[in-house]
Amino acid sequence: MSSYRVTLIPGDGIGPEVTDAAVKVLEATGVNFDWEVVEAGERALKKEGTPLPQAVLDSMKKNRIALKGPLTTPIGGGYRSVNVALRQMLNLYASVRPSRSIAGVGTLYSDIDLVVVREATEELYSGIEHWIDRDHSAAETISVVTRKASEKIVNYAFDYAVREKRKKVTAVHKANIMKTTGALFQEVSQQVAKHYPTIEFEERLIDNMAMQLVKKPQAYDVIVTTNLFGDILSDLCAGLAGGLGITPGAIIGDEIALFEPVHGSAPKYAGQDKVNPVATILSGEMMLKHLGEREAAENVWNAVFDTIKEKKVITYDLIEGGHANNALSPSRCSQMADEIARKVRESA
Ligand code: NAD
Repeated sequence: MSSYRVTLIPGDGIGPEVTDAAVKVLEATGVNFDWEVVEAGERALKKEGTPLPQAVLDSMKKNRIALKGPLTTPIGGGYRSVNVALRQMLNLYASVRPSRSIAGVGTLYSDIDLVVVREATEELYSGIEHWIDRDHSAAETISVVTRKASEKIVNYAFDYAVREKRKKVTAVHKANIMKTTGALFQEVSQQVAKHYPTIEFEERLIDNMAMQLVKKPQAYDVIVTTNLFGDILSDLCAGLAGGLGITPGAIIGDEIALFEPVHGSAPKYAGQDKVNPVATILSGEMMLKHLGEREAAENVWNAVFDTIKEKKVITYDLIEGGHANNALSPSRCSQMADEIARKVRESA
């Protein structure tokens, strides 16, 4: 039986624990994987003198698909973010973050099902910024929005909606104030929408969208937007559905797709076998869908859903949410992964 060769980047801090958990669950599906393990981030810096060795880029270019743990980025100095470098060097332009309610995770709503598709290469994150004077009395950051990148991301969002049998795409911008960058994204969204007559299209201004998502998130489906707005809205949606421990992500280019949890490397928990593996396991579920292994993906989703709903084998964060049986003692990261893998095996 053929197998998928996948680049596996364990990452820093809690990364190795959560990627081990995801590998365990993915292998329980019966789909064959051949993992090519490469190091990036702090671990690579210690071993090889660089946080982004050429072997990582070569492996991703060759395999075109990668599962990655979080990487530590030094704050206010040190080396440049490896995550940002990977996006730019491999042209990974579409950040995709689904947020779905899972019964048993304490949140405001129980019926969230949102996907934020965010343009990840330009706008206010283009890196064009400077101080106006030596006294640092003012600063300037330039927002660059191109027709080409806008077309790519809006097309990606509509294609995703068609593929995933979604009903509606909402384009989010601030064209009333940003009369060039905002208006360009708005114009491109309207033009692209005409090519997808089966998908409903609507627009929202970013400020209104933030309020609408908090008041009636059920009214939304796929949301497509530029970099900064998408960064903020995807965290808002993750918060609505239950937070960092359960939110997966993907960052996709024309050639390469990278799957990773939304959370960071949480260094204070590293090596304790304590954190929630679900965000990384569900990143693996997104990877299965991307590979066309939809039945395996569904088995993983159902196993995660049932494990959390049962509240027998769950990590501390799902108990401290206040909605689990408080008499319960928290399970370890590896125990939760074993339980999810067991359920996947049963249904495979
Ligand atoms: P973080 O997500 O690592 O941790 C914040 C807090 O969230 C943790 O202290 C913990 O309480 C909780 N948490 C995170 N993941 C969890 C999990 N799986 N289960 C249970 N609780 C969890 O954010 P941070 O402290 O701001 O960042 C730490 C490092 O991670 C930084 O160096 C940052 O740059 C990096 N980071 C990397 C990525 C990435 O590689 N994609 C993303 C975000 C942050």
